[in-house]
Amino acid sequence: LTILGLESSCDDTAAAVLRQTGDARPEILSSVVMGQNDLHAAFGGVVPEIAARAHAERLDGCVIKALDQAGLSLREIDAVAVTAGPGLIGGVISGVMCAKGIALGAGLPLVGVNHLAGHALTPRLTDGAAYPYLMLLVSGGHCQFLIVRGADDFTRLGGTIDDAPGEAFDKTARLLGLPQPGGPSVELQAKQGDPARFRFPRPLLDRPGCDMSFSGLKTALLRARDGLIAEQGGLTRADRADLCAGFQAAMRDVLAEKTRRALALYRAEAPAQPMLAVAGGVAANLAIRGALETVCAEQGIGFTAPPLALCTDNAAMIAYAGLERFRSGHVDDMTLAARPRWPLDRGSPPLLGSGK
Ligand code: ATP
Ligand code: FE
Repeated sequence: LTILGLESSCDDTAAAVLRQTGDARPEILSSVVMGQNDLHAAFGGVVPEIAARAHAERLDGCVIKALDQAGLSLREIDAVAVTAGPGLIGGVISGVMCAKGIALGAGLPLVGVNHLAGHALTPRLTDGAAYPYLMLLVSGGHCQFLIVRGADDFTRLGGTIDDAPGEAFDKTARLLGLPQPGGPSVELQAKQGDPARFRFPRPLLDRPGCDMSFSGLKTALLRARDGLIAEQGGLTRADRADLCAGFQAAMRDVLAEKTRRALALYRAEAPAQPMLAVAGGVAANLAIRGALETVCAEQGIGFTAPPLALCTDNAAMIAYAGLERFRSGHVDDMTLAARPRWPLDRGSPPLLGSGK
């Protein structure tokens, strides 16, 4: 079974081809990601209209490139999977329209995929993770613990009640005048900084459950920065590095402690092969990743984090999630709608535009 996947829900235009022979682990024949950092850099964040236009302009070329790299023509593809939400609606519509055009033109089945399911199922593609596993999704737009039981079967244990960690990293970078995306810049600074100089809050650790909050952390960082500027008239290199180190340490501690709690809930179900998988761009952070690995080692639980290129937005994960859905009998028709919101563990939310 050979499947083409499309992704355009944020600021990456992506297409990928995946092939599964029998029940073997699918092979990624190609995975093309066209980023848009250059288009949005001047605005300090993703501009939805610019993103949507860029997706519309680039999707065709991206698909052609993915097919080329796989050495295949559309005739050799068996199904088309596309991110149908959640995300920036203009981009999602561009992708869904492109996929419909391909499906209609080439007479292929169409499979709509939840972007978050794409992230959440990636450990099955990369490590053959067995259901049920615990997933911590930490990205620019999301932060949640999920028990993943099947391609369409997720239980949410908790998540952020305000900012996503990636967003907090990006804002921190902006406040300190570091380049975007903020995660890698802050991590680089943090390596050279002293995490003990600024003791930032660890919000919600005093409360039970797996919910998290990161907006207070951002405010604390802003105060510390303004305090230094008022005192010294500016920030030194060391100040920046120390602020980053303090921020990253707080983020790491909150994620590690909440992971302990999520693991307790997950383990109560006595999974046969207990495993924690992290995905999303923030999983690229080595300090955070290391802390989570330690928690798992303490508890004798498997740990996996997909390789970076499959942690951040890509179409291979969409093709994979589409493959699982397709193999379980799910096919969409031309009424497939783009959804700005599409929670993983609830029924269908209200749709934007036409659709089911
Ligand atoms: P979503 O997938 O939830 O819609 P997104 O597409 O913005 O959001 P990803 O592409 O998964 O998210 O990840 C991007 C985010 O990851 C950015 O906020 C970026 O700052 C963050 N990030 C990337 N590398 C690192 C790192 N080394 N440390 C911390 N954060 C990082
Ligand atoms: Fe994503």
